Amino acid sequence: MKTILNFFKKIIGSARSEPGPVATQVKVFSRAEHNISRSQISENALKVLYRLQNDGYEAYLVGGCVRDLLLGREPKDFDVVTNADPDQVRKVFRNCRLIGRRFRLAHVHFGREIIEVATFRGVGEEQNDNQVLNKEGRLLRDNVYGTIEEDVWRRDFTVNALYYNIRDFSVVDYVGGMADHKTGTLKLIGDPDMRFREDPVRMLRAVRFAVKLGFKLDSDCEKAMHNDAQLLSSIPSARLYDEALKLFLSGYALQTFEMLRHYGLFQVLFPATENSLAVEENGFPRLLLIKALENSDNRIADGKTVTAYFLLAAFLWEPVQMLAKEKITQGEIEFMAYQDAASEIIARQVRSTAMPRHISMAMREVWSLQPKFNLRIGSKPSRLLGHPRFRAGYDFLLLRAETGGVDPELADWWGRYQNANENEQRKMTQPPRNASNNKAGRKRSYHRKAKSSASNTDS
Ligand code: ATP
Ligand code: MG
Repeated sequence: MKTILNFFKKIIGSARSEPGPVATQVKVFSRAEHNISRSQISENALKVLYRLQNDGYEAYLVGGCVRDLLLGREPKDFDVVTNADPDQVRKVFRNCRLIGRRFRLAHVHFGREIIEVATFRGVGEEQNDNQVLNKEGRLLRDNVYGTIEEDVWRRDFTVNALYYNIRDFSVVDYVGGMADHKTGTLKLIGDPDMRFREDPVRMLRAVRFAVKLGFKLDSDCEKAMHNDAQLLSSIPSARLYDEALKLFLSGYALQTFEMLRHYGLFQVLFPATENSLAVEENGFPRLLLIKALENSDNRIADGKTVTAYFLLAAFLWEPVQMLAKEKITQGEIEFMAYQDAASEIIARQVRSTAMPRHISMAMREVWSLQPKFNLRIGSKPSRLLGHPRFRAGYDFLLLRAETGGVDPELADWWGRYQNANENEQRKMTQPPRNASNNKAGRKRSYHRKAKSSASNTDS
């Protein structure tokens, strides 16, 4: 107990600002006082815990898995924390790889399942090579090892800082996480403003957990979020891309979107989209995006897959439309205007969230298929049907049709065309009877028509 009190004294003494309400007592909830049973824990995670324990180390489950097990939910993954350092962990497990620079971790591999094993993080007495802050106070590297009492301070929310001890199956709570769990509150450990400065991604995590768990943010955390949203722009774009995917492919994309906007975080992640929302016309731009988010949530609820590129295509569709229209009024040819706008918008977006090339290519394909849906005569429809991205392109067309961006009759036609047999398909793609009998004339007028309707515009 003395060491714990000293530890918190040390924190209070060394913090630049007053830390938030941190419990100064450790509470241990025995097996009878909580609902986590070993039958809910992955066998591989148990193996890791027991093996570390047998080799004389401390071993706990920690983080999201403990939080989710307490709520009776199936955890996404199981994270282990120990007093063994990464090299010692590697000696215990043959099937182990060390990863990470910002945080050095061990990954223990069991076929497709990976159990992440971290070493207790310490609170550095002073900065050294192992713990590096930038001038805004952001942690760039954090490889100081410590004890469980110190590790708890490194964690973000009190409900994420509960430790399940394999030695006696108890839950160890240093920060009042169990009480916050009961009231459904997300509370940062320590002073929220300081914790967000250390790592602004914690603001995105706050939104993700609030939505996923149905928890409310505690009022100090909320206040700090309103003030600190812009700090997020200092985070490397690759990390923001990963976080954005977690946020939007979680099955709660719509609620997440609303909450991110509420705290001014969305505009840091998707600035061009935020701008396009500000100038919405008849609610259409916003509707397309909302519909896309809703569809994606429904698909996840039905156990179907969702793809990042489809959702990103929806996020950036309106910015591309707006920029292309601007270019057309400046005299650019329609086709080129859309191509250039797509390139420019993607180039701007990757400054915020650096998406992999195959994702941006797939997005562009979904967009460039849109004008092709207007070509319904001759052999083009059957060729389009064979396009590898036809399905995504068609789903995007449905989205536009549902939200007033394109005539629903067009989407209907493509629905019927896909399900028709060959004979019916041939009939559907014949030129209209009253077309000119002169073959050359017909060809010319068809091309004219195709050209005028092959724009990307929502009309
Ligand atoms: P999920 O269900 O998404 O896996 P999680 O809480 O387990 O949620 P992880 O990213 O797996 O999230 O992190 C595991 C634990 O590590 C967290 O519960 C938290 O204690 C700690 N942690 C992760 N990221 C941060 C961070 N940016 N700042 C402080 N602590 C963090
Ligand atoms: Mg986790």
